[in-house]
Amino acid sequence: MALDEIVISRAIMDRYHEKFKNNLEVDAAIVGGGPSGLVAGYFLARAGKKVVLFDRKLSIGGGMWGGGMMYNEIVVQKPALHLLEEFGVRTVHYQEDYYTADAVESVGLIVGNAVHAGLTIFNCMTVEDVLMRPERMEGLVLNWSPVEVAGLHVDPLTMRSKFVVDATGHDTEVVKVVERKFPGKLSTPTGRIEGEKSMWAEEAEKLTLDNSREVYAGLYVAGMAANAVAGGPRMGPIFGGMLLSGEKVAGELIDRLGG
Ligand SMILES: Cc1cc2nc3c(=O)[nH]c(=O)nc-3n(C[C@H](O)[C@H](O)[C@H](O)COP(=O)(O)OP(=O)(O)OC[C@H]3O[C@@H](n4cnc5c(N)ncnc54)[C@H](O)[C@@H]3O)c2cc1C
Repeated sequence: MALDEIVISRAIMDRYHEKFKNNLEVDAAIVGGGPSGLVAGYFLARAGKKVVLFDRKLSIGGGMWGGGMMYNEIVVQKPALHLLEEFGVRTVHYQEDYYTADAVESVGLIVGNAVHAGLTIFNCMTVEDVLMRPERMEGLVLNWSPVEVAGLHVDPLTMRSKFVVDATGHDTEVVKVVERKFPGKLSTPTGRIEGEKSMWAEEAEKLTLDNSREVYAGLYVAGMAANAVAGGPRMGPIFGGMLLSGEKVAGELIDRLGG
């Protein structure tokens, strides 16, 4: 069989456009493919919701690849162990409630399971703004990440979503746009982004979960973004809170989206 380069090009372009067009109107759009966003996407997709995830980077997985200080092992506490088991990630008991897992295996299996459950992922796409309607967020404004990197003057495209999840990590990029451009206040003590505090693992893990919730009509936060918006401390390279945060946000959205 002869391989034709033009057929290869056409196949990629046809399939990609099909996939992109099919995800311009969805139930939930997740910004950020770190652990919290991926877990949220997995559970939403598994529940049959139409869910898409956008990440600025070429590789999905956010800050999980590097474990702690590039030692590519992660620590997960017992209450979150069921999530690694759900994805088939092998864990090793360290002591008491502490378990470890290989960071690369964890990212690989979480991504694989999420995609097989029905999550569609677009990498190399940056969310640069949001779709605004009176007092509600209704979607995302997207551009190619290389356009952002090169500082090119290129207009973006827009997609619509019933709910948006900001899982962009420390930078809380979606909430920052809302804080700057939307009328009204965020549902935080000051009505604004409180800002992440210094290291305190135990408190941070608890607060991450408490703070994974809706912060503006139509907009949820998960993972480190939840911490940063609500003013929780950072926790270092323990990942249970990130995983549980994604599970919690997905559960709330599944309830709100209904059957
Ligand atoms: C400076 C720094 C400090 C850190 N400190 C801690 C710490 O104290 N505790 C801790 O647990 N972890 C820390 N980490 C590691 C890491 O952030 C977390 O452990 C964990 O990976 C966070 O998970 P997450 O799901 O919240 O999002 P992340 O893993 O941070 O993933 C966020 C993803 O969102 C994507 N993204 C961001 N903005 C956009 C956008 N506009 N459009 C599209 N995609 C976007 C990014 O490319 C990234 O893949 C740190 C990382 C950094 C860089």
